[in-house]
Amino acid sequence: MRYFLPLLIIQVLSGWLSVGAGALPGESVAAIWLPSGVGVVTLLVLGQPGLLGVWLASLLVTIPVTAQLTGLGMAWRMGLAAAALDALQAWLAMRAWRIHETRHHANFLRQPQDLIWFWFWVCTVPALATAPFMTLLQWSCHALQDPSLSGVARHFLMLVLSNIAGILLATPVYVLWRDRGRWDLRCNALRHLWPVALIGLILAGALLIYPPALALLLPVLLATTVRFRLPGMVVAMLATAVIISAATVFHIGPFVHGDSLMVFINLQLFLFSTTIMLQYLALAQELIKRHRVQLESEVAARTEALAQANERLKELATTDELTGAPNRREWQRRCAQAVLMARRQDTPLSILLLDLDHFKMVNDTHGHLVGDLMLRAVANTCRETLRASDSFGRWGGEEFVVVLPDTSLADAEQVAEKLRIAIAATHVPLDGGLYVRITSSMGVARLRPSDNDLDDLLTRADHALYHAKEYGRNRVVLETELPANDLPAKHG
Ligand code: GH3
Ligand code: MG
Ligand code: MG
Repeated sequence: MRYFLPLLIIQVLSGWLSVGAGALPGESVAAIWLPSGVGVVTLLVLGQPGLLGVWLASLLVTIPVTAQLTGLGMAWRMGLAAAALDALQAWLAMRAWRIHETRHHANFLRQPQDLIWFWFWVCTVPALATAPFMTLLQWSCHALQDPSLSGVARHFLMLVLSNIAGILLATPVYVLWRDRGRWDLRCNALRHLWPVALIGLILAGALLIYPPALALLLPVLLATTVRFRLPGMVVAMLATAVIISAATVFHIGPFVHGDSLMVFINLQLFLFSTTIMLQYLALAQELIKRHRVQLESEVAARTEALAQANERLKELATTDELTGAPNRREWQRRCAQAVLMARRQDTPLSILLLDLDHFKMVNDTHGHLVGDLMLRAVANTCRETLRASDSFGRWGGEEFVVVLPDTSLADAEQVAEKLRIAIAATHVPLDGGLYVRITSSMGVARLRPSDNDLDDLLTRADHALYHAKEYGRNRVVLETELPANDLPAKHG
């Protein structure tokens, strides 16, 4: 309810503005009855309790105006009833607005297709429904300047059209208020000044110098709407309408005519066509912007998903699924890098080929599942025992490889021994408190300047491994310990 008083004040001020600047000479109606729109905004913001505000504000505007025509006593009675009709009109418009929202489960006046409902049910029907009673009331209170039939009809027409104009122009302000978080119109004074300056210039030129120049206003309003969307359109059109009406009332500008009814009709034709066109354009712009934002966020989400999928794919392509260790291809890539580095920096580098002893027996005795658990346990032991800079990988089956950068053969032997002991201590628990242990054999080779590629190094390590098996398993054999002229033989 903190908006009650501000809205009441705005409605009274807009009423006085309409009476002061918009009341046609010789008529008792304004060209645009802005309070009709402010009343609808009040009800949309405050709900039913706003009715009291609309009624009060209408009373404060109507009584001083009618008092001049009928005297204060009559003005009081007429004011009370007229205020009730004003409140009814605002309520009908507010109901039409809400009914549309309930039916479509969406905020009203966000889509261009909402406009037909807005123009007809929110603007036109409430004004048409209350105007006959208002005219009758004014006629019965002798508040009409021309009580003849044509005078009454003319008054009725003006009343309907000026009320429609008020709702049409002022009600979209509520959308600005309701969606205020959405308008990212940064306060850059220079960027916002050009429409104000251009509209002011054209209006001044058209109203004071050459009336047909008013046509120039259309492209400027169009550009303002495209650039500043609904907020720009609502403000520009409200200001334009008020200035043009005020000027016309003072017999200035292109709408001036000998007959005040024609003045009124000309003005309404301009206001209706321009406002309706710009409202459609503003909402269409909003729609385009919303789609663009939605599209951008969809693209961002898909790019993110794609990056994640790529990451996962890379992981799958480089990691051995069972042990989580780098697979053979990935290990070869890392090893090639380490070799390159060792050559560039002239540092030693050794590799270690590891094969589990009698692993087939583990599978045969306890089943493949236990074999898998054993492979995982050994991989974990290797990871825990080795340095972070040592690249460890699964060569295939029950064979593993390690590249040890900056490590001489003697140091590599120590690492291998440490690993051999750690693997021998690794055990996989079985049911019934039993567990399986395993030993490993290793071949160690160091990088030589004569090595053409990784295969040369691997062949020597494999050869050493073969001899480790030959010498009884559960041991480490260095390439230097191999018998002379012993041809490399591939270990199975
Ligand atoms: P050696 O001491 O001579 O190395 O004997 P070994 O039994 O370890 O060697 P062999 O090459 O005969 O057997 C290796 C076995 O490893 C055969 C194969 O079924 C098993 N194996 C290979 N990959 C896997 C795996 O991913 N899971 C399990 N459970 N077994 C595997
Ligand atoms: Mg084996
Ligand atoms: Mg093997």
